[in-house]
Amino acid sequence: MYPFTDRLNKVGYLEYEIALQLGRLSMSIGFIKQKATSLISELDLVSPPVDVRSIAESLLLKIVEVHLGNGSDGALIPERREIEVNVDKPHVRQRFTIAHEIGHWVLRHRDRMYEIDEAPTGIYDNRDDSEVDLEEKSRPPTEREANRFAAELLMPAEWMKKSWRELNDPDKLAELYDVSREAMWNRIVDLRLLKA
Ligand SMILES: [Zn+2]
Repeated sequence: MYPFTDRLNKVGYLEYEIALQLGRLSMSIGFIKQKATSLISELDLVSPPVDVRSIAESLLLKIVEVHLGNGSDGALIPERREIEVNVDKPHVRQRFTIAHEIGHWVLRHRDRMYEIDEAPTGIYDNRDDSEVDLEEKSRPPTEREANRFAAELLMPAEWMKKSWRELNDPDKLAELYDVSREAMWNRIVDLRLLKA
């Protein structure tokens, strides 16, 4: 019934099962990247910004807009194939949240996922930071994996290398990819583009 999704979920899924059986707690970066890259090529996306809402639709996931103020960013409710997104958050944050929830779905994190912003710093300008740190050790593996997936989906490595050669400016890249400056900066560091 869902040929696209089924096909996608078969790609590399064995690797995940084996990893789980071996007792590894998290998926490899290569596996997560492959999942994101597959989606982008399946949908024939060739340039930024990535339309995360269309990607959700292609997976038959419904986006439900909710108003939660400064509360949680969003949620994945697998049994309803729904992604809730808090539209009171900044636009770029909503995009990252949707990409992150798609990650929970595609990576088969089976339980309901509610995104709780757990950094009550009161410095709202920095709120965009908390979801985009790819390796933050205090987060559960599934959260780090979903963040990694979101970064790979919103800022594909191959596109990023090309964009960096052309623009060489993190702010312009953030604008082009429609992500927060912090998310872009993390990705640039992650891909070691500064040395290039
Ligand atoms: Zn999450």
